[in-house]
Amino acid sequence: MDESLGTPDQWGTKTMTAHIIDGKAFAARVREKVAGHVALLKSEAGLTPGLAVVLVGEDPASQVYVRAKGKLTVDVGMASFEHRLDAATSEADLLSLIQSLNADPKVHGILVQLPLPDHLNSDLVINTIDPAKDVDGFHISNVGLLGTGQKSMVPCTPLGCLMMLRDHHGSLSGMDAVIVGRSNIVGKPMAQLLLGESCTVTIAHSRTRNLEEVVRRADIVVAAVGRPEMVPGGWIKPGATVIDVGINRIPAPEKGEGKTRLVGDVEFASAVEVAGAITPVPGGVGPMTIACLLANTVTACCRANGLPEPDGLTV
Ligand code: NDP
Repeated sequence: MDESLGTPDQWGTKTMTAHIIDGKAFAARVREKVAGHVALLKSEAGLTPGLAVVLVGEDPASQVYVRAKGKLTVDVGMASFEHRLDAATSEADLLSLIQSLNADPKVHGILVQLPLPDHLNSDLVINTIDPAKDVDGFHISNVGLLGTGQKSMVPCTPLGCLMMLRDHHGSLSGMDAVIVGRSNIVGKPMAQLLLGESCTVTIAHSRTRNLEEVVRRADIVVAAVGRPEMVPGGWIKPGATVIDVGINRIPAPEKGEGKTRLVGDVEFASAVEVAGAITPVPGGVGPMTIACLLANTVTACCRANGLPEPDGLTV
């Protein structure tokens, strides 16, 4: 008997373990593709795609994100323009900066880091960005275009989730998808994208009755709630694909006093025993979000200049 196969007794007790979708490796491949296209734009068209990031105030998490975005932008060969404004910046000054970035031909993508301080109207600020440079895909025009199935700038986090789902499954047509969370930045655009893939889509939220039952019928679960490990493995249909968008920092006394660790909205340890495939936290959706921001900037640069868009970097 081939010992590597184990004994029948072991087969009987062996639990299924999901395929881990490696978002970190996938994001590295996306960035490589972006870098290749940036090099082509430089050599063939004399164009350097440029991304402007605007940060108002000193929120520590936002500062970390902005630093990471700036570094990766430069790493793929694009130009990075960082605008750090005082927390007390007036709305008029912020809108005037956005208008100058809208008019700047070196800037192909504009991202305003959210959340903004309370005295600033986020909707007004986002809707002042030229929709063609709105690489976050939050401008009302892009929301409308996505909702009506037209070419748009697609929000980065859902775009990254869709890329991983397509890569894993090929066609998603006819699959039951349940998205937990209905935010404008994740849940709703994710639903539009999955509808576009011909999934049967359910969006669950804090008022959903029998959430466990709703989640259990899904072939694809996207969790975007912001509650640590809220979805246990027992809610997952065996073999389902689980995309965990949540990023939650929780205490980790096992690592030492005052230490913390990141967990998702899904209880990974139990879900990995049931799901067919699952994204980890960290190392799943997070790295894909920044990679898709770079991809959107290249796409915006190509569209602004009437050039062909790179394959596989948008929908
Ligand atoms: P929001 O707070 O905007 O939305 C959370 C959603 O979850 C809401 O629709 C809310 O419902 C729903 N919800 C809250 N509690 C429950 C519950 N008990 N049962 C069911 N639904 C519930 O969050 P975001 O969409 O901005 O972010 C979600 C998570 O994703 C966060 O952890 C965030 O950090 C992470 N994130 C990660 C990104 C990445 O790059 N990986 C990018 C963006 C976000 P209701 O509308 O009824 O209140």
